[in-house]
Amino acid sequence: MVIPLRTAVIEPQAFYLVRLIFEQQEAAMAGDMRHGANAGAQRLPGEIDERDEAPLLLSNGNPADSGALADGWHYAGWHDPFPKPSYLFALVAGALGKLADSFVTMSGRTVELGIYVEPGKERLAGYAMDALKRSMQWDEEAFGREYDLDVFNIVAVSDFNMGAMENKGLNIFNDKYVLADQETATDADFANIEAIIAHEYFHNWTGNRITCRDWFQLCLKEGLTVFRDHEFSADQRSRAVKRIAEVRTLRAHQFPEDQGPLAGGRHARAAREQRRFVPVGQTLAPGGPNRTSYGMCWARGWRGGA
Ligand SMILES: [Zn+2]
Repeated sequence: MVIPLRTAVIEPQAFYLVRLIFEQQEAAMAGDMRHGANAGAQRLPGEIDERDEAPLLLSNGNPADSGALADGWHYAGWHDPFPKPSYLFALVAGALGKLADSFVTMSGRTVELGIYVEPGKERLAGYAMDALKRSMQWDEEAFGREYDLDVFNIVAVSDFNMGAMENKGLNIFNDKYVLADQETATDADFANIEAIIAHEYFHNWTGNRITCRDWFQLCLKEGLTVFRDHEFSADQRSRAVKRIAEVRTLRAHQFPEDQGPLAGGRHARAAREQRRFVPVGQTLAPGGPNRTSYGMCWARGWRGGA
């Protein structure tokens, strides 16, 4: 998941989405996420909605059956073959425009890609689609990770209350991280879109297929995925410029309260609570565990099942 760095809380929309549909899962999520990841295939109940008001019915996994019902209603069934924790469920029903494309994976499978935006904004999603295809190819080349469903959809709307969320096969974005126009967007806007599209896509493996036991392991999936999107941006652009930007972000955000004249050591002896879930230091610090372990073994061992 990606949120603006200054926002202190990062996962609430996951709870928000889940609370609407899967209230019974909350207790399990607070404890062990694997309670939501039952073995074997999962099948979402078909969505049912009025055809005129919501011609588009999306969810996780691959599309299964769909059809018309009485009184102008219709339904769509989706089948996700992979177990997942409940925070990765998503349902979208509405009237949206679509930018369509496809990607051929390294084993030769064709994946249908769709970016859904508010009607009339489709022409602004081209750069995001290009970034998505480059992300898919990079994950194959750098980490040997091939996309595992037949479709990958992104829904980007202007009133999504956070940045972006990696729901399995159906990423949901605030559209300021998808839409760009060469007439108005800055270089930084393009770089941000590329990085966030990549980040949410990379979660498909680091976070979704390989997930956390509970929320206290959140730093594992976020730290590793942030590290992977940094590597992607470094490969796509300038590695030196990217690294300087990372360290500047680290110094600005890791301990903002420690930037005054009375700044002390950065090892707390005790803490009353932990607010900052995304481990900026773990991911960005020169000797941080993700970067160090990548240098020690991942570069050689990842494809071997490390
Ligand atoms: Zn994330």
